[in-house]
Amino acid sequence: MRLRNVPGARETIAAHPLCTLEEDPKAGKWHELFGSDRPVHIEIGMGKGQFITALASLHPEINYIGIEKYSSVLVRALEKTGSIKPPLSNLRFIRMDAENICTMFAPNEIDRIYLNFSDPWPKDRHAKRRLTSQQFLERYRQIMKPAGQLEFKTDNKDLFRFSLEQVEPAGWHLIAATEDLHHDDAMNPGNIMTEYEQRFAALGNPICKMVISPT
Ligand code: SAM
Repeated sequence: MRLRNVPGARETIAAHPLCTLEEDPKAGKWHELFGSDRPVHIEIGMGKGQFITALASLHPEINYIGIEKYSSVLVRALEKTGSIKPPLSNLRFIRMDAENICTMFAPNEIDRIYLNFSDPWPKDRHAKRRLTSQQFLERYRQIMKPAGQLEFKTDNKDLFRFSLEQVEPAGWHLIAATEDLHHDDAMNPGNIMTEYEQRFAALGNPICKMVISPT
């Protein structure tokens, strides 16, 4: 998702109390920033934030961080959360490229990672840029609790199968997987739809999901 340039988006984010910038890493400080020891769950590539905002409303016992590369997209999530009353105290945002995620979090700081409808990077020579590549799984391992989990959803079967193939070589293990989430009685209950998920499901595309753990 890359919205047309939104004038003032960079400045809005830089000045916003709920936003952290890649240039100002906060590794090891997230519990302090939230003012609580609650588990920290992050969504990487959150887009306009529909999914993580819904989770934060439903689960005040968890602290959530939405990560997005582009200011023009992140600013839309800020608009959405600004209209929620009372404000959510368990939701923050980071503008950064996830390639540098290890500078933003300390070892064991993260309990769960969500990846939803990540960009597929279809050319083989770009495979390392896929957010489920071995290279990214290695980065996530460095910041996650050993018993943590990563949940990935996509409607792109090629990306899904590539992602499944990455799990074992990266030293992770598969907990559950489906190629038709919305008709899977075990995995679908409690599913929160993302913006892209709603769009693709409306077109009749089956949604794939895998849950993996670094140990
Ligand atoms: N997760 C949302 C959903 O399911 O509706 C948005 C999906 S959209 C296809 C992918 C999002 O990931 C875009 O907003 C894009 O800017 C962001 N993104 C892609 N690569 C990223 C990276 N390396 N770091 C952070 N965000 C990234």
